[in-house]
Amino acid sequence: MTASRETLQVNSSTLPLIDLRDVIKVYSTAAGEFTALKGINAQVQKGEFLGVIGKSGAGKSTLLNMITGVDDITTGEVVVRNNGTETYVHQLDEDELALWRGHTMGIIYQSFQLLPMLTLIENVTLPMDLCGLYHPRKSRERALELLEMVELEEHAYKLPAFISGGQQQRVAIARALANDPPILVADEPTGSLDSVTSDHIFELFDRLVDEQGKTIVMVTHDKSIAPRFSRILSIVDGELAAPVEEDEAAPEAVAEKKPRKKRRWLW
Ligand code: ADP
Ligand code: MG
Repeated sequence: MTASRETLQVNSSTLPLIDLRDVIKVYSTAAGEFTALKGINAQVQKGEFLGVIGKSGAGKSTLLNMITGVDDITTGEVVVRNNGTETYVHQLDEDELALWRGHTMGIIYQSFQLLPMLTLIENVTLPMDLCGLYHPRKSRERALELLEMVELEEHAYKLPAFISGGQQQRVAIARALANDPPILVADEPTGSLDSVTSDHIFELFDRLVDEQGKTIVMVTHDKSIAPRFSRILSIVDGELAAPVEEDEAAPEAVAEKKPRKKRRWLW
């Protein structure tokens, strides 16, 4: 992307990767205006595994949509720094935004959102072919490598309907990593998975942070998983609240928190 009014070259090594400045989001509905985010100020540093925790309707998904630029902001700004470039997300036009997002962020949803008519390898290849960072031959090779990383290479030529939910989410993570973005954002990615399967997803996220230096912002309404994050933002009615105290989280989850260790994947 060329430098323009929206992007500035900066020495970004010490600055936050994501900077939310006075973010306000007002939805206009038939019933009138509704303020879903009431002036959020927050920073995310490179290498964090940040949990955004709050009840249903608190504004978590809205916050993620502000970070990704999927929805427009009412007032305030989101600044993302990557490769020495500072991007004012909400000043980009549609085309710039799509290109920037393709390079910068992988997005993971609760419902996986794989394309049902495409095989797993085609699902993972697609964002690379859309973004144009990799030669088509290389993108297929890379898709297979990513499927290997999530231990699904033997299913590469299956359709999503023929694998389990946990496996589908791993494909969605492989797809989110396709263009090797520095940031992953995940909206309740374990929300439709059982606890053993979601544990595997957390192990995968831990590895991506520890071994590949990715930064992850994950939204959840499940306080009991708070100990799994490196830091937590707590959101209540569109505002940041005091961090969730450890004793507020389920005691068994706190008790289970172990130092991160490298181990073989068990799925
Ligand atoms: P969460 O992800 O924490 O459950 P959301 O960010 O989806 O919450 O929603 C926050 C609030 O904004 C909720 O009250 C929701 O009803 C409202 N909201 C979300 N999206 C829209 C929309 N497109 N139009 C109107 N209101 C919305
Ligand atoms: Mg939500």
